[in-house]
Amino acid sequence: MESKKFLLQEQDIPTAWYNIVADMKNKPLPPLDPKTKKPITAEDLYPLFAKGLVDQELNETDAWIEIPEEVRDMYKIWRPTPLVRAYGLEKALDTPAHIYFKNESVSPVGSHKLNSAIPQAYFCKQEGVTNVTTETGAGQWGTSMALAAKHFGMELAVYMVKVSYHQKPYRRSMMQTFGAEVIASPSMSTRAGRDIITKYPNYQGSLGTAISEAVELARQTPNCKYVLGSTMNHVMLHQTVIGLEAEKQMEMAGEYPDVVIACFGGGSNFSGIAFPFLRHKLTEGKDIRIIAAEPASCPKLTRGQFQYDFGDEAGYTPLFPMYTLGHNFLPANIHAGGLRYHGAGSIVSQLKKDGLMDAVDIQQLETFNAATLFARSEGIIPAPESSHAIAAAIREAEQAKLEGKQRTILFNLSGHGLIDMAAYDRYLAGDLTNYEVTDEDVAKNLAEIERII
Ligand SMILES: *Cc1c(COP(=O)(O)O)cnc(C)c1O
Repeated sequence: MESKKFLLQEQDIPTAWYNIVADMKNKPLPPLDPKTKKPITAEDLYPLFAKGLVDQELNETDAWIEIPEEVRDMYKIWRPTPLVRAYGLEKALDTPAHIYFKNESVSPVGSHKLNSAIPQAYFCKQEGVTNVTTETGAGQWGTSMALAAKHFGMELAVYMVKVSYHQKPYRRSMMQTFGAEVIASPSMSTRAGRDIITKYPNYQGSLGTAISEAVELARQTPNCKYVLGSTMNHVMLHQTVIGLEAEKQMEMAGEYPDVVIACFGGGSNFSGIAFPFLRHKLTEGKDIRIIAAEPASCPKLTRGQFQYDFGDEAGYTPLFPMYTLGHNFLPANIHAGGLRYHGAGSIVSQLKKDGLMDAVDIQQLETFNAATLFARSEGIIPAPESSHAIAAAIREAEQAKLEGKQRTILFNLSGHGLIDMAAYDRYLAGDLTNYEVTDEDVAKNLAEIERII
């Protein structure tokens, strides 16, 4: 058998992140102040976010942004991550396709989220911040932030979506082990939390609500900033270390992907693996397909609308241009907690609108079928989120087989599922179901949102 793993050295960890906005012909529309409907300025964002991150957020001119040495040093704990040729999966599928995956599950927290948690904590610390707040869905982001905040000597409070707080108790333990405070959301500790509990007493929470609570606490706490794990431009930027490494590793493998795939919650792991390859399409006209795989129960890219919407449920954030199901959308309690978010990041939304990428939606059972096949053929139990990417890669490999053509597929394994075994238990017991979103649901939520474009 030829080489299975493509490994880089420490010195190959990228020295700069790739800022795709600099290369986009149509830049994302600016975020707007909800009251005045005027574009948000850096000064508007400084009270809530660290200055270094705001400047990255609004940077439209520099394609490369240097990674600070202290951040690169921390990346060395687990980066560079392996690129793996999935011979076992290819054999199981009897496909002529070549399947590669970038293994981000090897990080100390088990997912890609640490790639952005470290720089976010670093830039907060740089300006003397002592306290940070954030939200977490399945707990991957909160765990990453807990580790990063502790490393830089800051206190962290995490609002964890209630359904995950109960489904994934070990992620809560991980956050607490790293020294963070964890609160199930919705909680009675904020106005946003109390309001939604009053309206829906049994509500199990969503990322949108948890963001509202974290933002509210940050605003009330001195010397405190809010950080978040996806959708915003600076998060996408930090995650590009994934694709920049993968670019070199595909070269080592002597191949170039026909299609690049990642699962999609708000877009950070997707952007991470895809943007460095999209760069070839934007700057050299390279022919490459880029696919985001989202849950059928939360289908913002495939069935949402492109418009301005809030990033959170209570409407505390600026208005962002995005594909959205409406910030009041209450997603079903699927096990891929990290994908239960109503909107897509602004950069990805613009790319989708301009036809530079595609999206597919996948039902929960198909993702667990894919996850089980992957576990049995590659020996890694994937996160329920990542399983959406695996399912989409399998669809591509099966299509290649039908056409009798070779096709090189690269997907991102955003995390492992070792803390998600309760979900696998339910799948193995035959207790998991698919969730349909009706067109009426989507239309009803969107009708409640003010149209600006
Ligand atoms: C959070 C998470 C996701 C979804 O977030 P994105 O910002 O869309 O990448 C996907 N996979 C894993 C393992 C996660 O933890």
